[in-house]
Amino acid sequence: MNKLGLHANVWVGGWSDAEARLAISRTAEMGFDLIEMPALDPSRFDVAFTRRLLDDAGLDSVLSLGLDADTDISSGDADRIAAGEARLLDVVSVARDIGAHHISGILYSAFHKYMVPPTDRGIRESAEVIARVADKAAASGITMGMEVVNRYESNMLNTHAQAIEFCRMVDRPNVKVHLDVYHMNIEEADSVVAIERTGDMLGYFHTGESHRGYLGTGSIDLPAIFKALVRTGYSGAITFESFSSRVVGDPLTGILGIWRNTWDDSDDLVRHAMQYTQSQLKAARESLRTAKLLNG
Ligand code: MN
Repeated sequence: MNKLGLHANVWVGGWSDAEARLAISRTAEMGFDLIEMPALDPSRFDVAFTRRLLDDAGLDSVLSLGLDADTDISSGDADRIAAGEARLLDVVSVARDIGAHHISGILYSAFHKYMVPPTDRGIRESAEVIARVADKAAASGITMGMEVVNRYESNMLNTHAQAIEFCRMVDRPNVKVHLDVYHMNIEEADSVVAIERTGDMLGYFHTGESHRGYLGTGSIDLPAIFKALVRTGYSGAITFESFSSRVVGDPLTGILGIWRNTWDDSDDLVRHAMQYTQSQLKAARESLRTAKLLNG
């Protein structure tokens, strides 16, 4: 069974003690198995406090981040590559100390709009850093997810095919592809085919909507997505991600372009996301069972 996750930004924009307490307790109360916490700046993370809250709530955790211009390991600049490797190693340490087994996001480049395409050398050097960091992460049982994002958030991994090729270049068993329906909806020719072709290289998954609001209210064919996840035997976490100007904090507001309010009531959004996800997964599993029954 897939663990169901929730992105902390549906509750809070930062990670003060009060915000951490609220996000973790509400996520557990809503029945989720794990919480994804943005860790763009891991030095601002109160590790011991967060660990205690997670343990008390019985929640798994995932840390997510994107690198920035000064830590861009795809930049071809030795100083930035070194700073990026140090940043990723810091995040591995924080993940280990809070008991997280997964780090995901734009770990392979900066998280911003590029004005030029990536270079072969930049991609190769990024893969070398990811491989070294992955070896450290493996010692703590941590998997690293390369999130495929749209062209306005990175120039490097915009499609599942690019991510598969990159993961093969890195060549570490704990480096996997992370797909997100919002980004696939922009970049892929067919999101179902993308999920099928990624297959067992898929390590983490984000659901959401085309406008990043309530599930089922945008233009993404979510029933087909859930069926593809079930049909391909994906057993990893499925995490709901949604952003509203009501909550999301800096610097994500600007980088993600969250200018509008798609919801006000976190409780209602999250309750609906849980019901919708469970209902879709149930329908997808029954659909597969029925198809086997009828088609032999
Ligand atoms: Mn995502």
